[in-house]
Amino acid sequence: MGKTVGVIGAGMVGITAASFLQRDGYKVFVLDPGAPGEGTSFGNAGCLNGSSVVPMSMPGMIRNVPGWLLDPLGPLAIRWRYLPVVAPWLVQFIRAAAPERVKAQARALRALLAPSIETLLPLAKDAGVADLIHHKGHLWAYRTEESFRKDQAAWQLRRDNGVIVTELDADQLRQAEPALSREFTRGILVEENGHLGNPLRMVQGLAEQLRRNGAEIHMARAMGFALEGGRLKAIRTDRGEFPCERAVVAAGAWSKPLAAELGDAVPLETERGYHIMIRDPEAMPRLPVADADGKFVATPMETGLRFAGTVELAGLDASPDWRRARILLEQGRRLLPGLKESYPEERLSLWMGHRPSLPDSLPCLGPSARSPDVIYAFGHGHVGMAASPVTGKLVADLVGGRVPAIDITPFRPGRFA
Ligand SMILES: Cc1cc2nc3c(=O)[nH]c(=O)nc-3n(C[C@H](O)[C@H](O)[C@H](O)COP(=O)(O)OP(=O)(O)OC[C@H]3O[C@@H](n4cnc5c(N)ncnc54)[C@H](O)[C@@H]3O)c2cc1C
Repeated sequence: MGKTVGVIGAGMVGITAASFLQRDGYKVFVLDPGAPGEGTSFGNAGCLNGSSVVPMSMPGMIRNVPGWLLDPLGPLAIRWRYLPVVAPWLVQFIRAAAPERVKAQARALRALLAPSIETLLPLAKDAGVADLIHHKGHLWAYRTEESFRKDQAAWQLRRDNGVIVTELDADQLRQAEPALSREFTRGILVEENGHLGNPLRMVQGLAEQLRRNGAEIHMARAMGFALEGGRLKAIRTDRGEFPCERAVVAAGAWSKPLAAELGDAVPLETERGYHIMIRDPEAMPRLPVADADGKFVATPMETGLRFAGTVELAGLDASPDWRRARILLEQGRRLLPGLKESYPEERLSLWMGHRPSLPDSLPCLGPSARSPDVIYAFGHGHVGMAASPVTGKLVADLVGGRVPAIDITPFRPGRFA
């Protein structure tokens, strides 16, 4: 106790970790070149899905890739110039689809995700933002019996991990979500899932609570670490050194160079994603709805209707391709036909963000190679909002020298070495 912990990154992961550390009695500061929650945690679909145990790389998935890449409305795009850079990651990604590995990844994800809402709730209540957590379930909608059938391996994996699913026929689907197009004939409801009415406000609320309890949040970019004999003395930043005895690397998709400085070559890639939002939409779903074929989600939020999804492999620096966000609106209209044919720009907002992704869809969580004082907590890919609360608790366990509440060996930083 009495130690100072510096948390690098004020996204959902860093802020929840800082919150649990503060609860444990540590003096905490957070470093970020931007304001809390304005990275990837800003514009995601907000789903808190305990059911998200299906890794991105699944057996047979590779067969769909050529079709996805050729379809301009498809869920995957690669900037061809980036292909040589991302190729080694793609090789590891494809290898991660081995059936035994997929089972292990799903088990590991379930432990991280199932207690998401119950773990977040006490923090959100303290911060006065519990109203942002909705517990209404999540609906998957399928156009055809065939696409529903094709997804059965994924649903079996969820069932095998204790997720209770309710299959819906066309009528039941309509009752579950009246705003949905009649083109959809099959559905699945997962009642345990929830969502955030505004992911940014959740991070901001938790960050404010941290400040109220004495934490400092500095606008500074971490550049490296000052170590002496393997023990941490300070975090080096563009604003000078910040002394601390422990550090947490939670810089999302930007964590790779920080880990590299500590001797860990982590294959972290950005899976860029987009959203488009409609303010005061004519049709609003009651709960988040995934178009299972289009692989995007429509989430009702306090600021409007958000369509979020797509994966674009193009690195951290390439400029956004806003056509990918506009495609989401086109597809969203087919999901919710009550929406208008077109919208004036002032009712729309577009966003691009960087999912921090490792090839096996699992985060990197554990101590660095060069110093036990630096804990990694990054790489949560498609499920970082949902996985943050349990991750934050695990970080506090590791900093406190406690045995982590769940088995964290699947997340060990050196697993790709
Ligand atoms: C389109 C889309 C939809 C998604 N939908 C969902 C969903 O429904 N549910 C879900 O659970 N997840 C979802 N995700 C994933 C989720 O948004 C991310 O996994 C999560 O936000 C990652 O949080 P983070 O704190 O690790 O990263 P971030 O929120 O990106 O935070 C990292 C922070 O680190 C800061 N930083 C960077 N470099 C440094 C440095 N050198 N020093 C200090 N700070 C630094 C950045 O400025 C940033 O604020 C979605 C993602 C996308 C793109």
